[in-house]
Amino acid sequence: MSNTINTKDSNPMIDTTSRPIQMVDLKSQYQDIKAEIDAEIQSVIDSCYFIKGPKVTQFENNLAQYLEVKNVIGCGNGTDALQIAVMALGIQPGDEIIVPCFTYAATAEIIALLNLKPIMVDVTLDTFEISLEGLDKIITERTKAIIPVHLFGQCSNMEDVMAFAEKHNLFVIEDNAQAIGSSYNGKSIQAKSGTIGHIGCTSFFPSKNLGCYGDGGAIFTNDDALAERIRQVGNHGEKIKYHHDIIGCNSRLDAIQAAVLDVKLKYLDSYNNARRKAAYRYNDSFESLDHIITPIEADYSDHVYHQYTLRITDGSRDELADHLRNNNIPFGIYYPIPLYKQKAYSQYVNENYFLPNTELLCKEVISLPMHSHLDEKTQQVITHHVIDFFNGRS
Ligand SMILES: *Cc1c(COP(=O)(O)O)cnc(C)c1O
Repeated sequence: MSNTINTKDSNPMIDTTSRPIQMVDLKSQYQDIKAEIDAEIQSVIDSCYFIKGPKVTQFENNLAQYLEVKNVIGCGNGTDALQIAVMALGIQPGDEIIVPCFTYAATAEIIALLNLKPIMVDVTLDTFEISLEGLDKIITERTKAIIPVHLFGQCSNMEDVMAFAEKHNLFVIEDNAQAIGSSYNGKSIQAKSGTIGHIGCTSFFPSKNLGCYGDGGAIFTNDDALAERIRQVGNHGEKIKYHHDIIGCNSRLDAIQAAVLDVKLKYLDSYNNARRKAAYRYNDSFESLDHIITPIEADYSDHVYHQYTLRITDGSRDELADHLRNNNIPFGIYYPIPLYKQKAYSQYVNENYFLPNTELLCKEVISLPMHSHLDEKTQQVITHHVIDFFNGRS
């Protein structure tokens, strides 16, 4: 594919690259590491060891070393990772789990699927993480766990979450699908995101910061007994082949995906650094605009920018979205509807349920293209159209 750049024309309004701008550019990333990836995939095919096996174990060990966690257990996808985590903790039908409701539905879905009750709570306006404010009052005897979601690439305030959980005797399951590689840097806890709670979960969906070439997920824990239980749950409840002691499910990481991931793990930090640099370039471009709040980095976490998410505070988010669409600039609205207003989840709240921060964010947020191969020139085209929109309005 030719990627010719017309050097004569420096007008950023004209996209001079041959390929349309991508929200996530997996193709450029693959081109960079094609030789390694292709060889690794071929070696799995040659081995004919497709499900679990040595490649999966190798990747699990390498990821455990990277995360400095005792156990990593691969599974089929990030949603399964959350489900297996809840099942392994022995949480019973009718029990309650606290989740933020400004998040992807998977987090609440597995709770509902297991006949548990999701308690959907608000998030902070600055870092989009679960807000613990007032939660003391909603704890009941049946509340068994809390799932902080490290949204858009930044770790939640885990010291506060852990203290809250300890006080109320709750399990903590970190949904780390969007923040792999970020570190929590608190006063008493310094660790990679996903390794602080009882269990951490992640997704290797292709567009995630560490993505494979299909579906994949993993579960982390420092508790060896829990790790054994997690392996058992994810493999039909068996520890010994054809001996089923508990009800489990079938969710495994396959060897081709593990091979891809093992190559990409080596580049994860550099990919995350590239995302961070791109985010700061965006921030610089938007500095002079009044109605935009650029991402706020917490002092207790580094940000790996799974998403670069702006808040548009003058009510013009949808108009900006139209403007970008008309100019072929991809964008995402994560997330447009509070979880408790989704048809499937409205049954868990009464009709007056209202979480002000979540409601506001659903109206204000817009995410711009973000990936490991976002170059300055492409960003100039994107930011030009955003700035153009606001200048056209004033
Ligand atoms: C992607 C994602 C999931 C689900 O992962 P899948 O691999 O798609 O099942 C769960 N939670 C969050 C926050 C996610 O972003």
